Amino acid sequence: MTSIEHNLQQVRERISAAAARCGRDPEEITLLAVSKTKPAIAVAEAVNAGQECFGENYVQEGVDKIQQLGNSSLTWHFIGPLQSNKSRLVAEHFDWCHTVDRLKIATRMNEQRPQDSAPLNVLIQINISDEHSKSGIMLEALPELAKEIAQLPRLRLRGLMAIPAPEADYQRQLAVCQQMAEAFSRLKKEYPSVDTLSLGMSDDMEAAIAAGSTMVRIGTAIFGARDYATTHNNN
Ligand SMILES: *Cc1c(COP(=O)(O)O)cnc(C)c1O
Repeated sequence: MTSIEHNLQQVRERISAAAARCGRDPEEITLLAVSKTKPAIAVAEAVNAGQECFGENYVQEGVDKIQQLGNSSLTWHFIGPLQSNKSRLVAEHFDWCHTVDRLKIATRMNEQRPQDSAPLNVLIQINISDEHSKSGIMLEALPELAKEIAQLPRLRLRGLMAIPAPEADYQRQLAVCQQMAEAFSRLKKEYPSVDTLSLGMSDDMEAAIAAGSTMVRIGTAIFGARDYATTHNNN
């Protein structure tokens, strides 16, 4: 067994154990393998171990891997900060975008999504607890943005995403995740297409699952520590 295969198995076990502790079906939780800064060969190893959903933060790096892998059974999620001048590449190559936080970029991707592709699945990013982050909207702004995005035919509003500020204490992680879960459940009542809460990373996935996350984004626990020195972070 390769180490990626081994790590994936352990992460799947962590998801199952966390789900079991709160009486949830582990099948409700999608594992997104975050492969940013990792080479296509590492993604291929994960694919061989049965992983199909991948998350990328840098647009061009992600597009390169999508093309190198050339496997249509894989699902690619853009999870990095999105700049207007990169929206076309996301709309043309990815299946999901988790980081929509303004109408302007949603409108652009709606126009740029190729007609022969399924609508782009989008999540609205919420800034739930990180005052230092410029990404994501405040919860108060959600009803308005959701209403506008739901009207764009080439996008499909699937739910919410957040990157909580790093926090070591489980109870405090849980409290923040529960705020997200409440917002998600209100949104779901209003929009039938909403079914995804993207919440939880390597260090807080247990709290996220306990709160009701349906998609955890895991990088380090699968692929090991990232080496930023060898990548070009020009997005
Ligand atoms: C890098 C990243 C992850 C994965 O983080 P790990 O701590 O390595 O699991 C998840 N979500 C987003 C948005 C990321 O940028």
